[in-house]
Amino acid sequence: MQQKISLKLLPSEAADEAAIKKLLANSSGKKESEIKGFHILKRSIDARGKTVWINLTVNAFINEPFHKRKIPKFHFTDVSKAVKRVIIIGAGPAGLFAALKLIEQGIKPIILERGKDVRARRRDLALLNKEGIINPDSNYCFGEGGAGTYSDGKLYTRSNKRGDIDRILHLFVYFGAEENILYDAHPHIGTNKLPQIITAMRKKIVECGGEFLFEKKVTDLIITNEKIKAVKTADGLFEADAYILATGHSARDIFILLDSKNILIHAKPFAMGVRIEHPQSLINNIQYHSNYTDEFLPPASYNLIDQVNGKGVFSFCMCPGGIIAPSSTDNGELVVNGWSPSKRNNPFANSGIVVQVEMEDAIKIIGKMQLAIEKDSPLLLMEFQKLIEQKAYAAGGGKFVAPAQRLVDFVENKISSSLPDCSYLPGIHSAEIKNILPGFITERLKMAFRSFGEKMPARFGGKGYFTNEAVIVATESRTSSPVRIPRDSETLNHPQLKNLYPCGEGAGYAGGIVSAAMDGEKIAGKLANVLI
Ligand SMILES: Cc1cc2nc3c(=O)[nH]c(=O)nc-3n(C[C@H](O)[C@H](O)[C@H](O)COP(=O)(O)OP(=O)(O)OC[C@H]3O[C@@H](n4cnc5c(N)ncnc54)[C@H](O)[C@@H]3O)c2cc1C
Repeated sequence: MQQKISLKLLPSEAADEAAIKKLLANSSGKKESEIKGFHILKRSIDARGKTVWINLTVNAFINEPFHKRKIPKFHFTDVSKAVKRVIIIGAGPAGLFAALKLIEQGIKPIILERGKDVRARRRDLALLNKEGIINPDSNYCFGEGGAGTYSDGKLYTRSNKRGDIDRILHLFVYFGAEENILYDAHPHIGTNKLPQIITAMRKKIVECGGEFLFEKKVTDLIITNEKIKAVKTADGLFEADAYILATGHSARDIFILLDSKNILIHAKPFAMGVRIEHPQSLINNIQYHSNYTDEFLPPASYNLIDQVNGKGVFSFCMCPGGIIAPSSTDNGELVVNGWSPSKRNNPFANSGIVVQVEMEDAIKIIGKMQLAIEKDSPLLLMEFQKLIEQKAYAAGGGKFVAPAQRLVDFVENKISSSLPDCSYLPGIHSAEIKNILPGFITERLKMAFRSFGEKMPARFGGKGYFTNEAVIVATESRTSSPVRIPRDSETLNHPQLKNLYPCGEGAGYAGGIVSAAMDGEKIAGKLANVLI
């Protein structure tokens, strides 16, 4: 028989198959020899008390032959001769998962991606990190796999559509991710493993007869009779029955193009702030109450949130054992984000700490700067975002060197006379962050940092979260899209263009890898109803 059993184990026990079997035997009242094997269904860390526990839910095979975990089969068909063709603009998670789902449904996807394949893209990232030179079409946001490829690869989402999430996770496993993402409470792949997975997805798409075209930036839409007839690239026009627009939150040229053609888009609130970095050992000490042994516990993470003067201030994309990455897409703009390798074995912990930005906030700032942009422009929040990123770039002194300040110095309005070691490869430069971010953000950040310090105080002689050993780096500004591209809630197409399907994070329907992938599948599912 198979029995679902929940266990509470020490980290060393949870890492030891024999120890788990012994506990399963105790818990089920059977002999150890009767436990033939088990599948982990859920694994989470409980670090609330002095002792850190691992909670496991397993499916135990008792007196029944053990069989390996069943991964669902996916039926990718040959679409090389398919009559219906869909152009997907952008090969991020939204575009890739849309393509795979179209193939399952017998529709041919043609992916047009402005950037390069993962391998060529890696060379552009090295140039950015080492020389401070950016390629506007190939960087941490643009290229095969989109912003998801050289990301942290955390796969949790606030969405509660469990069936859809499981399908996305199983697809990741199908393309090479480890099975632990299926049961970990906070699944994570890591930057070192994502490129191979993305490559395997591309190979499958091409093997099934889909087309995957790199360095094909879409620069215009040819429209006739409320429909897109073709999309324009430097290499000519491409035509299909429908068009999925999955260009991500950094494709400002696409937002500008849509607005210039009077295609309806809306400004969308987003969040902005800084990335903070602590020594990972300090975070481990606080979160694991000095119990950390890297043998059995992963480097600790945190999730912080506070309400300050009517606005949420929250941690975003926390990367234990991570690296702060230059995530700009153009020269003269400084954007940071974070990633970590699968082992999370770098000595630093970083996360974005951001404040919600609404339309009225941006109107005030833009008004003060007397910028020539209408108050009701759908591009207002995007222009505000760009403005702050440009200030940050200037404050860093160029070549993507980032302005930075020690945490307590920032809160106490002191210039940092020295900066701690930091993982950000292009380098950091001491600057006053309050001169870069608007007052409504900095004042809230200061209050939130003090409150986060109270939530994560010093323990056992170590330092707490609120310490000058931490450094803040500007700016964390691409948390989500500053624009929404509307779509009909039923048909999912743009209200003015019957065969244009806005999709993923850039269109405002996702906020991370899994939700973008789910949105890609949703659009592809709808297209099967329309086209077949
Ligand atoms: C450093 C970093 C770390 C991150 N870490 C995580 C994480 O751990 N977990 C998580 O869930 N999310 C993370 N994210 C966010 C996540 O990557 C995005 O939410 C996700 O990739 C959005 O998917 P998407 O397909 O909607 O858009 P994107 O991934 O942005 O993909 C859009 C694609 O469109 C292409 N494109 C743009 N314009 C054009 C054009 N005109 N013509 C043709 N192609 C075009 C781009 O080159 C890009 O490949 C991270 C992001 C970064 C930058």
